Amino acid sequence: MISGTLGPGTRYVFTDRHGGHSSAPFDGCNLSSRVGDDPDQVAANRRAVAGRLGIDPDRVVFLHQVHGADVVVAEQQWNGDAPQADGVVTTRRGLVLAVLAADCTPVLVADPDIGMVGAGHAGRPGLVRGVVPALLDRMRELGANPERAVAAIGPSVCGGCYEVPAPMQAEVAAAVPAARALTRQGTPALDIAAGVAAQLRAGGVPTVTRFPVCTMESPDHYSHRREGSPSGRFAGYVWLEP
Ligand SMILES: [Zn+2]
Repeated sequence: MISGTLGPGTRYVFTDRHGGHSSAPFDGCNLSSRVGDDPDQVAANRRAVAGRLGIDPDRVVFLHQVHGADVVVAEQQWNGDAPQADGVVTTRRGLVLAVLAADCTPVLVADPDIGMVGAGHAGRPGLVRGVVPALLDRMRELGANPERAVAAIGPSVCGGCYEVPAPMQAEVAAAVPAARALTRQGTPALDIAAGVAAQLRAGGVPTVTRFPVCTMESPDHYSHRREGSPSGRFAGYVWLEP
């Protein structure tokens, strides 16, 4: 588990597959209720993570992620089903924002001065559709200043591993040039996290930390590309301390 702060009064965590008890192929700490795992086990894994973090499991907000660019504002736990969105923002202290990933890029942002945190899920479609710029726009609308924000990019598939057909690489690189990469074999690839970092910087965020963990190479993480479907999901959590 990677944990830290995005400035005074903020905390974040990127979980891994350890510390939960799902059965194969989700074995470990799968936090997604939408990949076919036993819902009771997913709930138990979420409670286990909350216990380790010292947070209230009923104050953790997950999204129904759809590889889009919609960003919602969370005031409390959802009343009913989670909204379909890939970004979420809150100013509520103690309300924990969570995004799920297993090769896609989880990104967490905070403006500690105003007391606002945001979380986003950017895979290849979300990068192109601009979920990260949409997240920053939403935070700015609500009074945050991206120019004093701090961001963390969690474990995701690296450019050396994420091979794609050349036309797909060209399409993504036309939208986000920084995502262009080569595999270790020299074939066309994408580095989604590099694209996310470029979008954050273009949006004004001066401080971006990227953890050099490739999910496809790390046995500690779920990887959709390595494990195939179905596979589990780990999560990025960010919150303002109560
Ligand atoms: Zn890799």
